[in-house]
Amino acid sequence: MIKFENVTKKYPNGFVGLKNINLEIEQGEFVAIIGLSGAGKSTLIRTINRMHDVTGGKLTVDDVDVMSLQGKALRQFRRKIGMIFQSFNLITRTTVIKNVLTAFVPEIPWYRAAFGIFTKEEKLKAMECLDKVGILDKSFVRTDQLSGGQQQRIALARTLAQNPQIILADEPVAALDPVTATQVMDDFKRINKDMNISVLINIHHVDLALKYADRVIGIRAGEIVYDGPSANVTDEVLDRIYKGKSEGVKA
Ligand code: ADP
Repeated sequence: MIKFENVTKKYPNGFVGLKNINLEIEQGEFVAIIGLSGAGKSTLIRTINRMHDVTGGKLTVDDVDVMSLQGKALRQFRRKIGMIFQSFNLITRTTVIKNVLTAFVPEIPWYRAAFGIFTKEEKLKAMECLDKVGILDKSFVRTDQLSGGQQQRIALARTLAQNPQIILADEPVAALDPVTATQVMDDFKRINKDMNISVLINIHHVDLALKYADRVIGIRAGEIVYDGPSANVTDEVLDRIYKGKSEGVKA
């Protein structure tokens, strides 16, 4: 379970990105985080794997205080949490499977990583993950020959190869056309349901959030203004999240 207790995030320049956040997210939930640009969606999910440090309150994952983690414990903790970005973050000049195999780099000896030597088990695991997102047939194709949607699936397969308990996705479909975006959201949903992996997605598209997520969290100026089932997101709720300009919104 991910638990925020009165969490605050103050950036070094004094800007308060998150104010008094209280949340409990159970294992296996599919949560969409929506809000205006600059509302604090990214900040919220990036505190969960310590890409950002929280500066007040307490954040725990399975009762472990995230801010107490250091060195090896922090690295091991981060292995449990997959991160997906808008920009895929792939090595485009190499094959699809080599991108997925990079998931193993943090846990293999340096010389294997340096020479790109992977075991049969690692290769099979990478192929299994590519199969889960429907692009096994592209394993040996160069990454830059694939579409944006297929590249996001490679990123998803790479994340699955680390056996995550949680996937954090920061605007994963923002760079995709509507049809491809839906396909990638289908992948997230299937992975969430079949593997019981918690999925937290920051998303601009309210329609996709409502269609795919079980739960929606609406953020405005660093504060939660809605937290509940996607089915209960009414126009009044959307007004609360989006209407006017919130404090701290990017121009
Ligand atoms: P969102 O994901 O909802 O677009 P962010 O979480 O990226 O919003 O940003 C929330 C607010 O925090 C924004 O106003 C942004 O300008 C500010 N912010 C983000 N990163 C920093 C930083 N490193 N230093 C100061 N302010 C930041």
